[in-house]
Amino acid sequence: MLPFKLIYHDGYDLNLGAHVFPSQKYHMIRDKLLEDGVATQDDFLAPQPATDEDVLRVHSQEYVYKLKNGSLSRTEEMRLEVPYSKKLIEACWLAAGGSILAGRRALQDGWAANIGGGFHHACPDHGEGFCVIHDVAIAIRRLQFDGAMERAMVVDTDVHQGNGTAVVFGGDGNVYTLSLHQEHNYPFPKPPSTMDVDLPDGIGDEEYLAILEKHLHQAFHDFSPELLFYVAGADPYREDQLGGLALTMEGLAQRDALVFDYARRNGVPVAIALAGGYARRVADTVDIHVGTIVAARDAAQQGANRIKSQAK
Ligand SMILES: [Zn+2]
Repeated sequence: MLPFKLIYHDGYDLNLGAHVFPSQKYHMIRDKLLEDGVATQDDFLAPQPATDEDVLRVHSQEYVYKLKNGSLSRTEEMRLEVPYSKKLIEACWLAAGGSILAGRRALQDGWAANIGGGFHHACPDHGEGFCVIHDVAIAIRRLQFDGAMERAMVVDTDVHQGNGTAVVFGGDGNVYTLSLHQEHNYPFPKPPSTMDVDLPDGIGDEEYLAILEKHLHQAFHDFSPELLFYVAGADPYREDQLGGLALTMEGLAQRDALVFDYARRNGVPVAIALAGGYARRVADTVDIHVGTIVAARDAAQQGANRIKSQAK
């Protein structure tokens, strides 16, 4: 039994078959968490889909209309890099509902994880790079709308820069965005996050962790969030097909532990979203995401952020 909730829905799977985006990973992660005894059935909560009102706090009316009515242009559909279908839209609205629920439960319990989401390339007026709508931004805007919190930090360690996050929250003093990513990789251009860290090709564990620590230190010095959203991409892994960094599984687990340690020591609740992962073996991507949940469990068992957030 975990000390926090996991948010999951079978509808997250897009059944894309041989596509480089392994959307079957979501149910594989769920199964592995149960098989390994990390979680029990009772740890899982099923989300409701986000409402259109939720989505419209981040995305333009025109774009949402096109998504719901299947009227994207061929160019717009190509830019998504996943085939358009009604099922795709349902899955994306569910993933956004999942991140809303994860944010809400994190504020309540100290920690929560959406076993999906992290679609950080989606922009207000278009989707790209497997990202249709920006679940994490939708969640932050919903929680602000509800008066549940005002100040959020997004820490994004996916190998690709969080361009959608940067655009949505650019100039917003209530949302601090930190993205660590490979410089010579999609997306181009990279609109500015609050803090961007452009990493060189082929960087390994030791160097990466030192850079991450330095920038987490700076971020928590500059800003005190009420909630941290962690976009925990599995694609800085050295066997990733769409990434050019060289982190090991062990290094990725240390990365997660470092992020969680900063949040815990600063008394900040953490909501996790998974984001990318394109390892040659899907099982490796699954192991990395499971590792993130295990690292969160280990950090949550130390408990400090929960006690402090409840004391506010
Ligand atoms: Zn990525």
